[in-house]
Amino acid sequence: MKRSFNSVSGIVSAVKRYFGLSLALYAFFVGVAGVVPAAAAEQVVVYSSRKDHLIRPLFEQFEQQTGIEVKYITDKAAPLISRIAVEGKNTAADMLITVDAGNLWQAAEQGLLVKVDSEILNKQIPAHLRDPEGRWYGLSVRARTIVYATDRVKPSELSTYEALGESQWKDRLCLRTSKKVYNQSLVATMIASLGAEKTESYVKSWVANLATPVFSNDTKLMQSISAGQCDVGIVNSYYFGRLQDKDADIPLALYWPNQNDRGVHINISGAGITRHSKNPENALRLLEWLASKKAQGEIAALNKEFPANPNVPPAPQVVSWGTFKADTINVEVAGKLQVDAIKLMDRAGYR
Ligand code: FE
Repeated sequence: MKRSFNSVSGIVSAVKRYFGLSLALYAFFVGVAGVVPAAAAEQVVVYSSRKDHLIRPLFEQFEQQTGIEVKYITDKAAPLISRIAVEGKNTAADMLITVDAGNLWQAAEQGLLVKVDSEILNKQIPAHLRDPEGRWYGLSVRARTIVYATDRVKPSELSTYEALGESQWKDRLCLRTSKKVYNQSLVATMIASLGAEKTESYVKSWVANLATPVFSNDTKLMQSISAGQCDVGIVNSYYFGRLQDKDADIPLALYWPNQNDRGVHINISGAGITRHSKNPENALRLLEWLASKKAQGEIAALNKEFPANPNVPPAPQVVSWGTFKADTINVEVAGKLQVDAIKLMDRAGYR
């Protein structure tokens, strides 16, 4: 490890200073010292809310290319974040990987992530996909967009998220629960763009159009549209891709709303380095590697997302969904306005 290497070098120079050792003897000491870091394996420890199969292939490549061992655990975002908080200075975590800027913002707000100033990261990751203070960086982009039944809805009938509250969608709309951070982030960005008052009336109009109780996940929502219980909904694009894999002829399609104003709501999966990291240099190396062109294509492809690095194309299946204008508001708003969004959805009767 870097730490033991540094301390051994320190001893050698002290010995050299005080005892005036010959160059040959000094070289011997350095030689011995050089053995130490090779014996103690370089490592980086990651707490990840991204599932094993979405991160393991990347970590394996990083290990092969750098010789730095990646140790990791996976869990949901909330328990991982509270675990880092409870472990404090003793945490084993060097890096937190999680989805949704709302979660990364919460971790940063609790002081769990350290500010990173990296030219590589700032160059590879667009400014609106990272913390303005450098505590977390987006690594992949997901679009939360409109999905519709291709046999009952023409794309020309669709326009914006807000318009899903119009009377033509009465008893035809399906939504996922407001408890999910994805919807909290969507509403948070609406508050930022449209103001709280307008957003509340739009959310109320969605609730009035619901065909069914809210769903626990996006997949169930789409299966419900497919089964004819409702005609339109709002989902993350990669869940649509997973359904397509199971049934290529599924009678659903994605629609990219708000193309004449702010654009499609996007969010990120991303990472930050912990405040009490024991291997901060290795963690930074991993973070920069994950933002690199080579890793970006694979990070995005593994979960059918869009690379955060704009110089890297998405996978062919994702490209097949068409291009769109994305909202360029900084995703940190998902965290900053999360409480406002939760309260607003509660007032609007969105369960
Ligand atoms: Fe998800």
